[in-house]
Amino acid sequence: MLTVHSIKELQNAKKNHQGTIGFVPTMGALHEGHLSLIRQAREENEIVIVSIFVNPTQFLEGEDLESYPRREKADYKICELAGVDILFMPTIDDIYERDELKIMAPARGGYVLEGTKRPEHFDGMLQVVMKLLNLSSANKAYFGKKDAQQLALITQMVRNYFIPCEIIACEIIRGERGLALSSRNAYLSQEEKERALLISASLKLATQTVLSGEINCNTIKNKMQELLQEKTDIEYIALVNRDFHSIQTVELGNTMILVAVWVGETRLIDNIWI
Ligand code: AMP
Repeated sequence: MLTVHSIKELQNAKKNHQGTIGFVPTMGALHEGHLSLIRQAREENEIVIVSIFVNPTQFLEGEDLESYPRREKADYKICELAGVDILFMPTIDDIYERDELKIMAPARGGYVLEGTKRPEHFDGMLQVVMKLLNLSSANKAYFGKKDAQQLALITQMVRNYFIPCEIIACEIIRGERGLALSSRNAYLSQEEKERALLISASLKLATQTVLSGEINCNTIKNKMQELLQEKTDIEYIALVNRDFHSIQTVELGNTMILVAVWVGETRLIDNIWI
């Protein structure tokens, strides 16, 4: 595995390989969730590129940019063992120029749910993903359903801007007791981890409720709220269709239930597609 830091090094490294490129962009502190994306990329492509870049433009004032977990040595080992060909770890100066053309997320997908409390988060995310997709020349790029809104916006950007890359949606990987893996779980104390289990439990409860025949979104939301509010601070519970429109009744095959809560000082998100 070759580790490269600059764009020039990346372009040179790519010249040494031939075949289809699978790309997995990450912010590092890699876990089994990231690894599942890397494994799928490894299975489906001749060349696998992973990037690690903690993108400052998608963190807003007061968010955890400075304290975001950084584990370069462990990340390197994980990528090497997973058979990654090129690990791209650019610096901020490599990625951004002083005067930047901005990409704006559309109002519906970008400024609701995750975008409500975090305006411009998705603009910054799209800007860097566009750059990384172009730099990697990926044929396929892998993203987790865990960040459902991100995935939808990237898929739209690739379509709108005719970027010649297929976006592959990957399943959410969870710990044994259901907590969706996230680099931010590192912030949780043991007691907070226990409380965070309520998130996946609430999504499970929602699924069971639907399976028992209840499709009224408010009823489902209320049940989830009752469970979650015991031990977390709820930011939102939302039932939307795959286009992120709010819905009144669940439509099987076209519904996502999304949750954002605070457990102590840590903000966690999760979702389920039904
Ligand atoms: P991040 O490093 O948090 O920016 O995540 C990089 C990629 O990994 C994104 O496409 C995420 O959606 C994906 N990802 C993060 N956590 C998980 C998980 N638990 N399961 C599947 N994919 C994940």
